[in-house]
Amino acid sequence: MEKQGLDYLLNIGLLLTYKCQIACPHCIIKAGPNRKEKIPVEVAFDWISQVSRYREGHVNILSITGGEPFFDIDYLKDISDFAAQCGLIPTVVSNAFWAGSRASAKKVMANLQSVKMFTFSTDVYHQKAIPIENILNAILAAKELGRPHSVAVCAADLEEPEYKKTIDTLLKVTEKRRISSAITFPVGRAAMTLGAGGRALASAPCPAACLSGDSPIIFPDGRVTACIGPVIDIDGDHPLLLGRIGEMSIEEILDKSETNAALHAIRVWGPKKIISELERRGVGNLLPKEYFENSVCDACYRLMSDDKIVSEIEKLAMDEQFMLEVAYGRLYHLGEGGSGIDGEAQPLP
Ligand code: SF4
Repeated sequence: MEKQGLDYLLNIGLLLTYKCQIACPHCIIKAGPNRKEKIPVEVAFDWISQVSRYREGHVNILSITGGEPFFDIDYLKDISDFAAQCGLIPTVVSNAFWAGSRASAKKVMANLQSVKMFTFSTDVYHQKAIPIENILNAILAAKELGRPHSVAVCAADLEEPEYKKTIDTLLKVTEKRRISSAITFPVGRAAMTLGAGGRALASAPCPAACLSGDSPIIFPDGRVTACIGPVIDIDGDHPLLLGRIGEMSIEEILDKSETNAALHAIRVWGPKKIISELERRGVGNLLPKEYFENSVCDACYRLMSDDKIVSEIEKLAMDEQFMLEVAYGRLYHLGEGGSGIDGEAQPLP
């Protein structure tokens, strides 16, 4: 089977701030102008340094996100320069508010020499405050400067005319392979403003594996989650909350995540594997009765946001047979050693 997604822990996300000039209705972290949380620069340096030293340079990429990381460009420059000095490849996601003209976009990007990939977010929600012309300016500036870029577009429905118009406009200046699309999800501010938006429901979970659970993300309060999907909105503990910096070092959190059988089952087979195992163990009565059609994250979110199900998943994740199956699944499907049952990240026999 061809491996999809990234190798585990090749990429770590750092959510620098919840501040943003705008407050989009689909934002799952409720970023906005009134938010204050930001990682102090010395703390960010400490965390980046820990990430870079992990298993003698195992992590390659530091994905800087927010909020809006360009909210304070000097701060972003300090963070990205430090990450590069530590041997990491910094990438950054932005709404391109700073790209009102191609000249201003070039100036800003030229100042951020350490950033090796710019991802620009645009969609009908962002465009209420930041015109798509800013994104076009940023893309053209990136091309003129020879700096890699990509574009992330979100929509409630990929058949919406506004979504298609955005894609057509982007395709005038960039290539299809650089554009990724996601569907809005009703958590965070989106839960209040957009709701489920009439999404189709199904009695079975999405059959897909997760392609995004390989890149944990660090939040300003020190939480480390397995991904930046909707599970970040869950208040309590669950298997995809990998740990909290302060209670453990980043090394301990990442090492522990190697033996997180629930997470790796989701990476190998998708949350449907957890669901079928729980059914087999006779606790199917606890499971959700319906799921958003074609949404792998929805199945995950429904499992992780229910305390009784989480408790059953925790028991499953300690089952030696299940751990072995997951370890071999990682080896066979993802080509990964590790996930050993002895708490050590080691190649399998
Ligand atoms: S499927 Fe689960 S682990 Fe994967 S990105 Fe979605 S919420 Fe995260």
